[in-house]
Amino acid sequence: MNFEYTEKSKALQQRVDEFMQKYIFPIEKEYAEFTENNLWQHYPGLEGLKDLAKEAGLWNLFLPEEYGAFSPGLTNLEYAPLAELMGRVLWSSQVFNCSAPDTGNMEVLAKYGSPEQQEKWLKPLMEGKIRSAFLMTEPGVASSDATNIETSIVRDGDEYVINGRKWWSTGAMNPSTKVYIVMGKTDPEAPRHVQQSMIIVPADAPGVKLIRPLQVFGAVESPEGHAEIELNNVRVPADNLLVGEGKGFQIAQGRLGPGRIHHCMRLIGAAQRALDLMCERVVTRETFGKKIAEYSSIRQDIARSRCEIEQARLLTLAAADKIDRFGIKVAKDLISMIKIVVPQMTCEVVDRAIQAHGGMGVCQDTPLALFWIYGRSVRIADGPDEVHMYQLGRNMIKEKMMK
Ligand SMILES: Cc1cc2nc3c(=O)[nH]c(=O)nc-3n(C[C@H](O)[C@H](O)[C@H](O)COP(=O)(O)OP(=O)(O)OC[C@H]3O[C@@H](n4cnc5c(N)ncnc54)[C@H](O)[C@@H]3O)c2cc1C
Repeated sequence: MNFEYTEKSKALQQRVDEFMQKYIFPIEKEYAEFTENNLWQHYPGLEGLKDLAKEAGLWNLFLPEEYGAFSPGLTNLEYAPLAELMGRVLWSSQVFNCSAPDTGNMEVLAKYGSPEQQEKWLKPLMEGKIRSAFLMTEPGVASSDATNIETSIVRDGDEYVINGRKWWSTGAMNPSTKVYIVMGKTDPEAPRHVQQSMIIVPADAPGVKLIRPLQVFGAVESPEGHAEIELNNVRVPADNLLVGEGKGFQIAQGRLGPGRIHHCMRLIGAAQRALDLMCERVVTRETFGKKIAEYSSIRQDIARSRCEIEQARLLTLAAADKIDRFGIKVAKDLISMIKIVVPQMTCEVVDRAIQAHGGMGVCQDTPLALFWIYGRSVRIADGPDEVHMYQLGRNMIKEKMMK
């Protein structure tokens, strides 16, 4: 691949960076204090920031060019460095309407939604007026094998009736979340990969019950949160089904390619910021008559972190480029590789930065603790490390056998 960014991407990188320097970094502490002290409420300045990003043309940048009219026209490779810039402040991607899980849900609706579904749900999502959640994982079954899920979606006249219990529904605690995409089974007797379907469920449908917010290493991650949700005889019009019965797995596969590029590039942004903070910190403090920056162990940690970030970045850009040129299916091994490599790399780099900060590294005075939580959770979310390694190993062996 050609690693040179296009002029269009370079210009946008500059504009996203300028926007963040001007509007995001200066309020980082204020934002953190507000969300900590006002559970499940939005920072009051958030809508104003979104308006500014919209006016600046820095809106919905994530949606790849193949989505035609819905897309601002960037390739995955052009968008990837923008996601990295946003990853330096974990909440900032929502200001540009580029945050998970909405990005994946918008892609699903843009790719698979009917014109009516798009008008009702995609339009307000793309305008940033509402937010969404994706409900697949269930407490009752090992959900890293998505064929295990048990939620039932049963046709009854011109409606579907949904019953089940979900958890880890990211964003479902958010007061702006008005719609869920739910994965369940329409035909438990069908072959394994065509039992599942996806259906649109309004968050206020009768029978939807938020049971509790889940904490991630003690953090509730307000205002988005991660919810446990009960779906008890929830009735929705039959037209809410996406594509058709049995297409759930196919939709899930398509949803995850670009989403993994976004997650990985945001994590790389977090890791890069952690390294920058580490370099700034170690020159300001002295122990035993020397600047901390002068110790060889610290310099090795910095050097190793720089190598690992650059390796991960190049691998992720290669995956983005392959998706753009050949599609998700051909890029699947690279997509698995980045999902295996990047969250682990982020945890290691951030851990070194935390160590170099001493006590400051584990408290709220830097974003490091939250960066580590993000990296550690992505090692499980969206498929645990082992599942990606299992699939990548299986693909490699299959290829060798075919030669
Ligand atoms: C912060 C966060 C956000 C999330 N957001 C969402 C969301 O928005 N929507 C949603 O539906 N889900 C979400 N999830 C859920 C996530 O996708 C699941 O937790 C994940 O897929 C694993 O499923 P499980 O928890 O049921 O673990 P299990 O399936 O029970 O697996 C447990 C462990 O078994 C091991 N294992 C499994 N398979 C293999 C294998 N083949 N080889 C070796 N070891 C294996 C792994 O170590 C794995 O971690 C989120 C999770 C987290 C932590």
